[in-house]
Amino acid sequence: MEQTLSIIKPDAVKKGVIGKIVDRFESNGLRVAAMKKMQLDANKAGEFYAVHKERPFYGELVQFMTSGPIVVMVLEGEEAMSKNRDLMGATNPKEAAKGTIRADFADSIDANAVHGSDSLENAANEIKFFFSKEEVI
Ligand code: ATP
Ligand code: MG
Repeated sequence: MEQTLSIIKPDAVKKGVIGKIVDRFESNGLRVAAMKKMQLDANKAGEFYAVHKERPFYGELVQFMTSGPIVVMVLEGEEAMSKNRDLMGATNPKEAAKGTIRADFADSIDANAVHGSDSLENAANEIKFFFSKEEVI
């Protein structure tokens, strides 16, 4: 059984589609093992996206991720990491396949509704970044 980290980003929280996005996961065999709503500050968002520090969009990304509350989840299930990435769709919603979360709920490459860990190693680190052991059930 795999675990992966999912974030419902500020644009999707503002639109009021938390429930619709969680339904995509639950309807596709992923279980919510942990969940919280929170507001990131620039330090925490900057640390989370540290891998993108040298990219030209880093500043905008941090600004966007701190622009409103997010919902952070641990999803659990068979091949949870890759299954979540499939359900999310491509980073740019214009390129995201029909029926994916980003195709249906995202507006642009920065306001793209969700984050999902992109490897099992990153998933383990990202889960630890947001949740204590006791919070993942
Ligand atoms: P995420 O890490 O959020 O799950 P991803 O793995 O599909 O998305 P990454 O390449 O890791 O995409 O980029 C992280 C985030 O940075 C993207 O989700 C997007 O919000 C933003 N981003 C990526 N590329 C660009 C870009 N060219 N312009 C603006 N923002 C971008
Ligand atoms: Mg990524």
